Amino acid sequence: MTTILVTGGAGYIGSHTCKLLGSEGFQVVVLDSLEYGHQKSLHISDKKPVFVQGDIGDRKLLEGLFEKYAFDAVVHFAAYTYVSESVKEPGKYYLNNFSKPLTLLDVILKYGCKKFILSSTCATYGNPDYIPIDEKHPQRPLNPYGWSKYFLEQAIKDYHLAHGLSFVFLRYFNASGASEDGLIGEDHDPETHLIPLVLKNIKGEVPELKVFGKDYPTEDGTCIRDYIHVEDLANAHLKALLYLDRKGKSTAFNLGTGTGYSVLEVIKASESVTGKKAAYSFAPRREGDAVSLIADPSKALEDLGWKASWTDLQEIIRSAWSWENGPKNGSYAD
Ligand code: UDP
Repeated sequence: MTTILVTGGAGYIGSHTCKLLGSEGFQVVVLDSLEYGHQKSLHISDKKPVFVQGDIGDRKLLEGLFEKYAFDAVVHFAAYTYVSESVKEPGKYYLNNFSKPLTLLDVILKYGCKKFILSSTCATYGNPDYIPIDEKHPQRPLNPYGWSKYFLEQAIKDYHLAHGLSFVFLRYFNASGASEDGLIGEDHDPETHLIPLVLKNIKGEVPELKVFGKDYPTEDGTCIRDYIHVEDLANAHLKALLYLDRKGKSTAFNLGTGTGYSVLEVIKASESVTGKKAAYSFAPRREGDAVSLIADPSKALEDLGWKASWTDLQEIIRSAWSWENGPKNGSYAD
């Protein structure tokens, strides 16, 4: 059986990926600090992963894990992901998202593991020169979060050249939605992402919804993003593992639907799904935000055989809405 180490596996995208990998017959070992993750989100399938609480910078802990399990590959999610926090506290992001993973990489090499899948981001591109964004687009991050991922990508490329580490960078656009069975979904604290905030606003849990910026050079003046369903992202990790198994070339893939929606369009779609009005007001632009981020996902289709199956924004929002109103409130929320 193939054994995979998943760092940050108790987080939003990590837990959906663990669920899928477990159902596909992989043995999964999750390493998660639980600073943001939810251990309960790993208890939803019959094939629960092995769970270890700890830090990705803890060399001793990592070496113990690599001694115990012969990992075939590492899928690395563990990272901080708040763009605006990264602007205010860059050191936190460079330490956790760049410096600590270097320890992980050293241990990986020491134990002869040669496959690495990195959870990366469209935030490494910055404001695009052209849209949709392909993988050849220059990378000019606008914030420390994007830079921290960019630096880690660069380090991994160098490990590839020097030590033969095979890698896939999965550059996500805007992860969204919840599992189709409604059991796991987006549960950040604090929540800063648009779709859950709009839905919580509609539920009356977030009284103040701010739309950041109304004077961007877009049709309605608000930012445009490519919302990709979390189950599609999980599936891309499975495909990336299979791709490295068949000796695919180390490279990056953009993961998005190829269609963008403005902030106001997301609000409108949420109102339509829920049948209720959102109460929002306009606020100044948020620091570090790009105007428009839309993926060209054609390389992922060509090389990984991956393509988004959730292409309807309302369906994505509907899955998030079921999660918001589902068992999370009973059994699975921390
Ligand atoms: N956004 C907003 N109000 C909010 C949260 C987000 O207007 O309360 C906007 C944000 O400026 C961006 C888009 O919604 O243009 C998506 O933001 P999110 O934080 O969900 O993801 P990001 O694109 O930053 O990864």
